[in-house]
Amino acid sequence: MTKFNQIHNSLYQKINIHSPRERRKLLIDEMEGLTTKKIHCFNCAGTCCTFSANSMQITPIEAFEILISLEVTDSNLEDLKSVLRKNILNYRLNHEIFLGKKINSLLRKTYTCPFFVAGSKGCTIKKELKPYGCLGFNPRIENDNGGQCHSNTELLETRENIEIKNEENANEYLKRELQLDWVKLEIPKAVLALIDKIF
Ligand code: SF4
Ligand code: SF4
Repeated sequence: MTKFNQIHNSLYQKINIHSPRERRKLLIDEMEGLTTKKIHCFNCAGTCCTFSANSMQITPIEAFEILISLEVTDSNLEDLKSVLRKNILNYRLNHEIFLGKKINSLLRKTYTCPFFVAGSKGCTIKKELKPYGCLGFNPRIENDNGGQCHSNTELLETRENIEIKNEENANEYLKRELQLDWVKLEIPKAVLALIDKIF
């Protein structure tokens, strides 16, 4: 069994966390409800996925679920690593900027997501495997195209409260198993970190 399959089995069978779709159901339902009211992203250039607005950071389990969506194989592995490395360099995500002792945090950088394709395709990650924050960020009025889109923080918190035990266990397992020393990272850094340990 490959390391990827072994981790997959441990997460969804031994630790028995809920499936990706089940853990995102509230967010997917909201998005689909908005779409039935003609409030959707179909005509937008994808502002929230590009460097003009995207600073998304994700946990190890979200990065693992992106790997499921990517269906990594021997034939696409090197290309994928190269795309991620270039993206990290382009947006200088490998240079952390400390904001000072008072704030005690790092500058949150914006970047164009490596899984975003301009045009009608948009995000190339399957809906049920996208980061939670991506699913929770939506337009709120028809034909907005990025003007007043925002996160439904209440819904994101409700989802998190339901799944917190599940996801804490999953993240602890991944951190231990893969010797990760981070809680959240920008999408390309998080996915590359897992690829380097798993493949
Ligand atoms: S994962 Fe998809 S929705 Fe999220 S920032 Fe990347 S392209 Fe956008
Ligand atoms: S959430 Fe808003 S900014 Fe992001 S793709 Fe949809 S319409 Fe555009």
